[in-house]
Amino acid sequence: MTGQIAIIGAGPSGCFLAQALLKAQPDLRVDLIDRLPVPYGLVRYGVAADHQGTKAVTRQFARLFERQGARFFGNVGVGTAVTLDDLRGAYDAVVLAAGLSADRALGIPGGDLPGVHGAGKLTRALYEHPEAEALPELGPNPLIVGNGNVAIDLLRLLAKSPEEFDGSDLGAGPSDWLAGSGIEEITITGRSPAAAAKFDTVMIKELGKLTGVTIRVIGAGDSDDPEAQKKLAALTALEGGDGPRRITFRFGLTPLAVEGEGQAAAVRFDSAEGEEVLACTSVLTAIGFDTPGDLPRDALLQDEQDGGLAAGLYATGWFRRGPRGTIPDNRADAKALADRILGELTPDPAKPGAAILQGLDAITDYDGWCRIDSAETANPPPGRCRAKITTREAMLTLARQEDMQ
Ligand SMILES: Cc1cc2nc3c(=O)[nH]c(=O)nc-3n(C[C@H](O)[C@H](O)[C@H](O)COP(=O)(O)OP(=O)(O)OC[C@H]3O[C@@H](n4cnc5c(N)ncnc54)[C@H](O)[C@@H]3O)c2cc1C
Repeated sequence: MTGQIAIIGAGPSGCFLAQALLKAQPDLRVDLIDRLPVPYGLVRYGVAADHQGTKAVTRQFARLFERQGARFFGNVGVGTAVTLDDLRGAYDAVVLAAGLSADRALGIPGGDLPGVHGAGKLTRALYEHPEAEALPELGPNPLIVGNGNVAIDLLRLLAKSPEEFDGSDLGAGPSDWLAGSGIEEITITGRSPAAAAKFDTVMIKELGKLTGVTIRVIGAGDSDDPEAQKKLAALTALEGGDGPRRITFRFGLTPLAVEGEGQAAAVRFDSAEGEEVLACTSVLTAIGFDTPGDLPRDALLQDEQDGGLAAGLYATGWFRRGPRGTIPDNRADAKALADRILGELTPDPAKPGAAILQGLDAITDYDGWCRIDSAETANPPPGRCRAKITTREAMLTLARQEDMQ
């Protein structure tokens, strides 16, 4: 063994980093530690249920554990079950790949009124994250603040008819919730003009396949930039339809306040034409993510330089860069960081590595995850490719093969 490396977080950035490290130096000991009993982070609990193609990246990550020798230690929260300092004492290098799971706050008056829901909180509930809150009542007219890909994901999910979830891994509870939502009109608002909107054109084109909607695009404007023109053309092509659910795109609206008596009922915006108030029955924010606070990110990143934080301590992925970028975007980050770590690694054979995790309760391993995965995919309900195990307890039981038939 040429060194022991602990990666905190088994999401895409942690997995890409482990891949790069083990490819360069196959005899390294690389341990991925995650607070959840299962690996893959937002691939399981963020990427949309109807985007199974995107989730296929997990087949590549599985090879990491099955062929490259990486180990998975699940159900171990760093900052709760074990401290970062303990890990730094036990491993030659420690990497924070813990992502960002808290919703960025709107930060305007009324931003925390009941009826205002963050995209992360909502998608965790839709995708049956073990710590998710109950799915909320949105009423007939939800209004989305934000126009990145996460906002478009939310819009698409809320606009789809039940049949359009065929082939997805959307659970029974969320499927019933969406089917019974009673949504009549969804308004999606962005601060920037449409030409500068953050969504990818491919996400907009996908909305063109929705069957039960009528789409309006207000104030999309113009651009000389060829890329922006493609975006604008895709948006314009969406207009029309004769479905019962109405979708309205609005641009150039900066939210000033959420208004309502004890419940969000409207959002007041600033626009080029002055102030405008849009009525709604709930507000969904998709304006970025932040750290939930179990790891002191700001303090840790203070002296950050290309992933290096301190001797033997590194960061990668969303935790390092902020909540921007797709799954593949984390690969380049990981490759560069792997080179850096290998250049600086000074193995100390006296370091105990994963032995310090011994004695912790209910740790899951990769075989445990395979048992959970098999149980979820063995008998999916009609029209679904998986039925997720939704509670931590049930996952732990399966992982340990207790109570199995
Ligand atoms: C709603 C949503 C939809 C998205 N859809 C797409 C898409 O369709 N296509 C695409 O390419 N990208 C998509 N993305 C972006 C993509 O998910 C990210 O680029 C990627 O997941 C970031 O990887 P990461 O490993 O840095 O973070 P994460 O995926 O968040 O992984 C972090 C891991 O760290 C673990 N962790 C956190 N704190 C601790 C702790 N204290 N101790 C131990 N473990 C911890 C978490 O449990 C998690 O497993 C989406 C993002 C969101 C939010």
